[in-house]
Amino acid sequence: MSANLNNSKILNKLDNILIIGSGGRENSLAWIIEKNELVKKIYIIPGNAGSEKIKKCKRINLDIYDKKELINKLQFLDINLIVIGPEDPLSKGLGDYLRDNGFNVFGPGADGAKLESSKSWAKEFMNEGNIPTAKFWKVNSIDKAKEIIFSSPDPLVVKADGLASGKGVFIPNSKDECLEATKSILNGKFGDAGQIVVLEEKIQGPEVSVFAICDGKRYLLLPTAQDHKRLNENDEGPNTGGMGAYSPTPLITKSYLERIKKEIIQPTIDRLINKNIEYRGVLYFGLMITQSGPKVIEYNCRFGDPECQTIMPLMDKDFVTFLQKCAMGKLIGNEEIKISNKVSGCVIATSRGYPNDYKTGFKIKFGETDNEDLQIFDSGTSLNKNNETVTSGGRVLSIVCQDSDFDKVFEKAYQKLSKIDFEGIFYRKDIGHQVRTKYKKER
Ligand code: AMP
Repeated sequence: MSANLNNSKILNKLDNILIIGSGGRENSLAWIIEKNELVKKIYIIPGNAGSEKIKKCKRINLDIYDKKELINKLQFLDINLIVIGPEDPLSKGLGDYLRDNGFNVFGPGADGAKLESSKSWAKEFMNEGNIPTAKFWKVNSIDKAKEIIFSSPDPLVVKADGLASGKGVFIPNSKDECLEATKSILNGKFGDAGQIVVLEEKIQGPEVSVFAICDGKRYLLLPTAQDHKRLNENDEGPNTGGMGAYSPTPLITKSYLERIKKEIIQPTIDRLINKNIEYRGVLYFGLMITQSGPKVIEYNCRFGDPECQTIMPLMDKDFVTFLQKCAMGKLIGNEEIKISNKVSGCVIATSRGYPNDYKTGFKIKFGETDNEDLQIFDSGTSLNKNNETVTSGGRVLSIVCQDSDFDKVFEKAYQKLSKIDFEGIFYRKDIGHQVRTKYKKER
């Protein structure tokens, strides 16, 4: 069947949705998607124990890289929209493959995903499009790196070019440390992802995340967010996948957002179009607000985790229709996504030892049931043979609350967390400290 025929057949149908991924991000997407009454069934490959608590959701155990079996299954299930959560399948071209087989996919092809899967490619892209970012040098030999590191006035930031699960960035304090980090990457610490190293000028300022959902030509913005990457309180300790987040960030005023649109978002969309990249999915801008204005630290080609869990409860039941419009290249561009005027915060409960070694298989006690403005999205959980939810990952649960202000949000989140228990539970108590007036007063 040709792609066009198939597209016209399923235009506006939203009966059967497929989500690919296994974390809190994917559960929060399933949770918001099921609110739309048009949606009858949400399949999730592979999902986790939490997916089973979402009424319309059914987990499928299938290897997404067994392409023939995947297509057979999706045709059998009559899937109307596919949402790909993680960067790995996107960068491997799963979006292209599914689109070529006639499916509507929310998620860019391998070409667009390169914004995340190759930092040097993304930096060159930004230079070509005049998009503000830190100065950079691309190197593939230790001699060349040495020359650049020791001729620059300050220690440079060192990054592995490819996907390294968020572990490929080093912020050294000295030039010797810079060189050591570069050597370890070029010598294979991250395998193929480290064949090229990007050296970057170190820039300063608060970091914010901005999300645009795109249909290849146009885009719509979701609420801004700030996340906490470091393991420990006061934003100290090793980098993690994310220990919590809040949305929106008061740092980005309406007029500053206009500046970001003009200087960063629109030029990015224009450059993608110019390069013949039809980007249908979410474009995540990791920005640093420097004294000379906003600069791009990184692009991601998917929703952030835990930003996604934080933002989804601010969306309404029509959110899925926007994902579908993006997947079909049918945004008008002036639609308004309905967004709650509440604020939202998320705290991640992890297994002790994360982001290094940790034990799994511990039974989770969830405490009493949720209310409307409180969600628990499972991140790393599975079911044991007695059908009980147990820990199975480093980041285990995302506890998310909404209210009229951040003090109330985090009070509720931490109250709930005090009732949740599993062996080795660990979480930061200061998530959102920048926006919690009570937290500041207590300190
Ligand atoms: P990335 O994976 O590129 O987002 O980098 C991870 C973290 O490293 C960012 O969230 C920043 O805190 C920090 N970082 C990355 N690049 C720079 C830079 N050029 N200057 C200062 N900090 C940076």
